[in-house]
Amino acid sequence: MFQATDDGFYQQRLQAWRGGSALRDEARPPEHWLQHLWRHQRLLREGLRLSDGRSVQVLHPGFWNRGPGPDFRGAILRFDDGPPVQGDVEIDVEASGWIAHGHDRNPAFRGVVLHVVWERPTGPSALPTWTMQDGLEAPLRELAPWLEGEAPGLIPANVRGGCCAPLRRLGKAGLESLLLQAARHRLDRKAGELTHRARHRGWEGALWEGLVGALGYRHNTWPLRCLAEWVSPERESMDVLGAQACLFGLSGLLPAQPEGPNAGHLRAMWDRWWREAGRWPSGGLPREAWRLAGLRPANHPERRVAMAGHWLASGPRGAAMVEAILGACDTSDALERVARALQPSEDAFWETHWTLGSMTSRTSPLLGRPRQVDLVVNVVLPWLWARASSVAGPARDVRGLVWSRFCEWPAGEDNAVLKTARMRLLGGERRVLPRTAAMQQGFLQVAADFCDASNALCEGCGFPALVEAWDRRTT
Ligand code: SF4
Repeated sequence: MFQATDDGFYQQRLQAWRGGSALRDEARPPEHWLQHLWRHQRLLREGLRLSDGRSVQVLHPGFWNRGPGPDFRGAILRFDDGPPVQGDVEIDVEASGWIAHGHDRNPAFRGVVLHVVWERPTGPSALPTWTMQDGLEAPLRELAPWLEGEAPGLIPANVRGGCCAPLRRLGKAGLESLLLQAARHRLDRKAGELTHRARHRGWEGALWEGLVGALGYRHNTWPLRCLAEWVSPERESMDVLGAQACLFGLSGLLPAQPEGPNAGHLRAMWDRWWREAGRWPSGGLPREAWRLAGLRPANHPERRVAMAGHWLASGPRGAAMVEAILGACDTSDALERVARALQPSEDAFWETHWTLGSMTSRTSPLLGRPRQVDLVVNVVLPWLWARASSVAGPARDVRGLVWSRFCEWPAGEDNAVLKTARMRLLGGERRVLPRTAAMQQGFLQVAADFCDASNALCEGCGFPALVEAWDRRTT
């Protein structure tokens, strides 16, 4: 029996299936291998030395960031005998990648405290640099099968948060109801912000600002919010081209010269913008106010501005939102009604161009289904909740319907913040939870309230005690 299992048959066939790995130690590994090696700390962790001779101790490698920005966020390191330093870690094959990839000019990389590279640097480094090939726990050729196989799917033990164990002890119902509590807190918080804006701009103005700001997703919320403060459907009455011309003119995104493949469309926008520009004597935003790099074409801010132009031209949306959510028989009906109420009219230019300067091609809709789902959870339902909460009497009862729509609303797109929160809180365990936006909102709120206030080691976090108290209360 021993001989039958000792002939390496399984390993050989696996290797053959993966195409073999004749890796030599001096080979340059791909960057995602370096990320897995750092993530799982397959390093000689004692005695790591930077290229400037200082020692570095990895107290926590940070959380893998698969979005734009540094590869690992929130690492905790100690240089020599100094105090722990918290910051980001960037990984490149070559030290020159720091400048070649533009990290030195990118504000998203300002928090980087360690540059991990594979090749030994040939000159002085701008920031603390550690060479990985000098500190692996085993030769690369021995680690290669693991890197090609299991590494991408494994959740490192150091990612599990201090709340993982008490959350595991909660049953399905306990976990679900705790996340709903956090989601309710998030709904109240968002409703509070909209109520404050409504005091200054009225309910229509607050909804308009909220919807337009939310089009910017995470990176371009503020410039879009500025546009919504300057121009609004209650004050303007224009067609779509005029509305888009105004918003583009104020945004600083309208090219100075109407030239290139879309010169005709740009000229038409400039003609309209010249007539309107005098109404905003203090001018608009500089182009630099926008985050333009590292975004998917469908999320380009120019498409968001074009979308806002459609809403601006079609007038206030409050009544349509009330009708869509409260007039629907159930959540799927509400989803369809909201989609119709938010949908832009036909737009010959934006259906065939990704940006103002791009060549003709087929594009995706200006407002896809995932964005519609998010807009409702983040703006429309909190706005309805705030409005209903602001009145006394029977109108306040509408909150019951708004809450049930909120709890049943389908889950939106997953994102890096949600993935990290789930990994830390559940430790990679598969817990069957409803696929609703409310569960996502719950995870996001716990991450914002507790994870963001602590560090990668969960020091001083109050959430584990909160979970234990919830467990005692519900059992
Ligand atoms: S910081 Fe708190 S909430 Fe976040 S993973 Fe750690 S223990 Fe959990």
